[in-house]
Amino acid sequence: MYKVVVIGAGISGLSAGIYAARSGFDVTILEQHNIPGGLSTSWSRKGYYFEGGMHWLTGSSPKMPLNRIWHETGALQDNNPIELRDPIYNLIDENGKILSLYRDISQMQKALIEYAPEDKHMIKKMCRAVKDFTNFHLPVLDVRGCKCKTPAPINPMEFIKMVPAILRVPYLMNVSYAEYLAKFKNKNLRHLLSSVIGYRYNALSFIYTLGSFACGDCGYPDGGSIRMANNMLETYKALGGKIEFRTKAENVKVEDYEVRGVVTNKGEFEADAVIVTQDARAAVDCLFDTMIDEPWVNTMRHEAVTEQNMFIGLGVKADLSRLPYCCVFPLEKPFEYAGCKWTELRIYNYAAYKEHSPEGGTTLTCLLIGDCYYFWKAAKADGTYKEKKKELGELFVKELSQFIPEVASAFEVIDVATPCTYERYTGSYEGSWMSVWEKGGKQRNYPQTLDSIWGVYFAGQRIQMPGGLPIAVYTGRLAVQHLCRDTGIEFV
Ligand SMILES: Cc1cc2nc3c(=O)[nH]c(=O)nc-3n(C[C@H](O)[C@H](O)[C@H](O)COP(=O)(O)OP(=O)(O)OC[C@H]3O[C@@H](n4cnc5c(N)ncnc54)[C@H](O)[C@@H]3O)c2cc1C
Repeated sequence: MYKVVVIGAGISGLSAGIYAARSGFDVTILEQHNIPGGLSTSWSRKGYYFEGGMHWLTGSSPKMPLNRIWHETGALQDNNPIELRDPIYNLIDENGKILSLYRDISQMQKALIEYAPEDKHMIKKMCRAVKDFTNFHLPVLDVRGCKCKTPAPINPMEFIKMVPAILRVPYLMNVSYAEYLAKFKNKNLRHLLSSVIGYRYNALSFIYTLGSFACGDCGYPDGGSIRMANNMLETYKALGGKIEFRTKAENVKVEDYEVRGVVTNKGEFEADAVIVTQDARAAVDCLFDTMIDEPWVNTMRHEAVTEQNMFIGLGVKADLSRLPYCCVFPLEKPFEYAGCKWTELRIYNYAAYKEHSPEGGTTLTCLLIGDCYYFWKAAKADGTYKEKKKELGELFVKELSQFIPEVASAFEVIDVATPCTYERYTGSYEGSWMSVWEKGGKQRNYPQTLDSIWGVYFAGQRIQMPGGLPIAVYTGRLAVQHLCRDTGIEFV
């Protein structure tokens, strides 16, 4: 049997493993960690459970073509029904008034205009754009030349319906998210809208995200990251797939320009093909003996703009169910750390998720998005890493307690993760988890194969911008289609 080794058991590695096993390959996944999921993960500290990955899942709606892939890979099952959180964000202003961002476009428009009538014109304009994007989504296509048992259906109507959104793309991709938001006069409205995605994206990414929420997509599968990853792992194992945890790939062995195997900390694994799902930006420079000098790899080396963050998880011995799930608190003075600055705090409140905390407690999490990898790297080098993590935690508690006093008076647990944490656990480049699609930048979809080595395939969030879970699962499938095409095996 044709031996395939998949490096990594994140969402793309599990997806690749499942499709390869289903198509009849002899598959082994090598995972350096002791659990599946990669960046899409959750963990517990003293009874408090922190959802450290998925906040919404693109393709969770049965109307989306990608939904088929989430089901084929067993990611979505009866044990993780989709919750459509609504409102998606809630700003709590200085008077305690709540300004909510709803999924439904007319409800969104009404609430925003009521709060900020001075921005009526811009709000209406934004809502019209969002409406056009309710039909815009990632199409599911097959690799040309691959024989598929069940080809992805091509529905011309699907593409025709995307035309109104496509016509808006040239303008929106050349305006930054910040420039777009600057058109709104109301400060609190700007704070609310700027919490939707990372601040360096283009306006297209913002409108596309709101459009996805508005069409009923972007739900949250019950049980979050870990349940979904475990569902995929069980699906993979049921197909006969093998997995080796705590096994770190150190080198892809190549002879005569062909893959021969993978060298790991636990010895060598023979392979006729290798699917690399470690962040491709990092993998191309650390898994091969010779420098890979191919145009797409060099473009990725030069152009990858990484989305990074510091994650803060808090366990508070208090019932915070008076607050909504996602709260945005505008700051009078920016909160600054690690060379980054935030003008609002966006907090996820898991008070409604009783299983996330011990009796009478609440779990809160926060993503402080910003370019801080080199700050933390330097702290590691000069021995101040732990001290700085502690300092960040203390400053954050102080800042947040202005809005939620129990955070200072009743906090029991604090957990801080930095890009160095993500780098250590997942090997991702600069500890990042998506690519930023900036104003004016090209939307790169990289080829998943190399001309210089036969039998190497890439999958994962870095392969298509901006990345995230949908790209991870989709490129895992595409990598196996490339393999099937090259080996003449039917893709199942
Ligand atoms: C805080 C946070 C919030 C997020 N929120 C969302 C969200 O709401 N929606 C969304 O769509 N996306 C979200 N994402 C992004 C999403 O989680 C990632 O883009 C996605 O999980 C990436 O999957 P992947 O398989 O491409 O890569 P990874 O998850 O990085 O998987 C790679 C795997 O390979 C393993 N590995 C790496 N190198 C080696 C090696 N040499 N040997 C063996 N194993 C190796 C790693 O341990 C890892 O398990 C979020 C990410 C973070 C961190």
